[in-house]
Amino acid sequence: PTILAIESSCDETSAAIIKNGKVLNNIIATQSVHEKYGGVVPELASRAHQQNVVPVIAEALNTAGVKKTELDAIAFTRGPGLLGALLVGTSFAKSMAMSLDIPLIEVNHMQAHILAHFIDDPKPSFPFLCLTVSGGHTQLVVVKDYLDMEVIGETQDDAVGEAFDKSAKLLELPYPGGPLIDKYAAEGNADAYDFPDTEMPGLNYSFSGIKTAFMYFLRDQKKKNPDFVQENMNDICASLQKALIRMLMQKLKRASNETGIREIAIAGGVSANTGLRQELDRLAGEKGWNVYVPDFQYCTDNAGMIAIAAHFKYLQGKFSKLDVSPMARMKI
Ligand code: ATP
Ligand code: MG
Ligand code: FE
Repeated sequence: PTILAIESSCDETSAAIIKNGKVLNNIIATQSVHEKYGGVVPELASRAHQQNVVPVIAEALNTAGVKKTELDAIAFTRGPGLLGALLVGTSFAKSMAMSLDIPLIEVNHMQAHILAHFIDDPKPSFPFLCLTVSGGHTQLVVVKDYLDMEVIGETQDDAVGEAFDKSAKLLELPYPGGPLIDKYAAEGNADAYDFPDTEMPGLNYSFSGIKTAFMYFLRDQKKKNPDFVQENMNDICASLQKALIRMLMQKLKRASNETGIREIAIAGGVSANTGLRQELDRLAGEKGWNVYVPDFQYCTDNAGMIAIAAHFKYLQGKFSKLDVSPMARMKI
């Protein structure tokens, strides 16, 4: 089948074409309007999606050399995400499916982040364990089959991507700050400062404590030296990133021990982090894990992952009705 997929859950408007399981392209328009506000402004995101959705879809069709009449289905992100943002992609997908008289396929954004592993080789084999780390989620998921997943642990408060971004904001870095912390961390000493872990029971996470500890740490250091941040940016970022990765890996190791699964994947925007990728590679050697990391373009929000998820749903005949509506919160 040939499917057009649309992603509009947050601040990326994206469209992709998939043909017989092969993703042909992945067009992404990133919204820059949010930078000056230090975070995504929902109403501005919706408006930017409205402006971008037509050109992005047109580019996906054109660069793939696919005509609208050749499409077998239209797929879209139903949730989770910002309701107004999701509405743009959902409404567009519905009207396009209706006018072409072809099936409509809803996709769960968090399932799609995980299924991004099936776009390129090497592909994990079932069952595998996926640590999904993004702007809104931090989850440990047992993936039993393409569309059969179980969350066995998750954050009880902030997502790790949020911890990166909010800490970056305290360092007066522009939004989203995660990639910048990664960049500075590469040049810094990760043992320069010590940030305590928040101990959580079982396989759950908590990232609000370290964020608060970081805030007080900066306040105290700046009292002693107003230029503390400017003078020590690399070491601060390296130390903070090390603590966040240590917390992520601690529960991942426990999950692997408890489930006996050694096929290990990471997904979501934070899986682009170089420190996290390095630590995972190190653990692969130490624990005998097979580790899987998605291509950078499929880590943060993109329609390629929506397309691959839609492909598997198409094969199983899982279509949506035309009266489907988006959902801000949606379980895997
Ligand atoms: P969700 O998928 O939970 O709905 P989202 O779609 O906003 O949330 P993604 O687009 O998957 O999240 O990921 C964005 C997050 O990834 C941001 O918090 C961003 O800072 C973070 N991020 C991206 N690259 C890196 C990196 N190299 N290091 C750390 N964090 C990163
Ligand atoms: Mg984004
Ligand atoms: Fe996402």
